[in-house]
Order: sequence, then structure tokens, then C-alpha cells
Amino acid sequence: MRCMYCEAEDTKVIDSRLVGVGKQVRRRRRCLHCGERFTTYENAELSLPRIVKRDGSRVNFDEQKLRAGMLRALEKRPVAAESIEAVIQQVKHKLQGIGDREVPARMIGEWVMLALRSLDEVAYVRFASVYRSFQDVKAFKEEIDRLTEVTESVTE
Ligand SMILES: [Zn+2]
Repeated sequence: MRCMYCEAEDTKVIDSRLVGVGKQVRRRRRCLHCGERFTTYENAELSLPRIVKRDGSRVNFDEQKLRAGMLRALEKRPVAAESIEAVIQQVKHKLQGIGDREVPARMIGEWVMLALRSLDEVAYVRFASVYRSFQDVKAFKEEIDRLTEVTESVTE
């Protein structure tokens, strides 16, 4: 959220509470750049659930991180930037729609893998190999074989 005084992007939430019938979140923010404080009213449905990582820790959904992960998988692949953004928007939309306060990171990974599979197979395998952290070459090969079967059944 940009500071409404100096437009700096680094603002810190100092207070957050639901208002009305819980449809809105009122947030007090402080700008880390100029120190001004201001209040925002945000759509509660737009504040995303927390992500539960494999080790049980909770983090905020990190759009930049998701984008970076996808870009790594898509390096030198013929996929338009708009397609990547579309997947990110899709993921955010799904997160908002879920309505839960917490969502397992695994679920987001699965969504992205599904989306990548239809965008670019190489990127899909790359992403899956990092994400599923294939234990050995055999597991990796099985995934590729599975993918080949799917592709063949579609193209034949
Ligand atoms: Zn400021």
C-alpha cells in the first residue's frame, strides 16, 4: 500500500480491525519513509489468507515470490508475460474465494503446477521438480513419463 503523502511503497500496518459486519478491514498504517500515519478501508474479502508452509510456519502470501518462482521455471521459454500475470491473478482470486484464514502452501503449488502444465510443459516439469523436490532421478522420470502420456492422449 502506497503512502498517501509521499507515495513511498513501504508502509507498515500498525492496527487492523474488522468494521461494519466484517466486510471491511480498517487499517492504520504508518509510512516508513516520511512517518505519516493514515487509515485505509479495505475490502475484507481482498485480504488474503495466511499461507501454512510445510514446516508449519505461517507466512503472508507473497506475490513477488510466486512470480519469481514461475519466472525461474519459465526461463527462456516462449510464454508471454501476460500469461504469467494471468496465472498469478487466478491464484489470488482463488485464495480470496476460499474464505479460510489459512491455506496450505501445497495447495497453491498445485494450482500453479496445473496452470503451468497447460502453458508450457518444460516449465511445468521445472517447477514441479523444485516444488515437489523430487527425491531422485526415478521420481523425476516418472513425472515426465506421466506427462508424456497425458500429452500423447491429447494429441493422438
Ligand atoms: Zn510517506
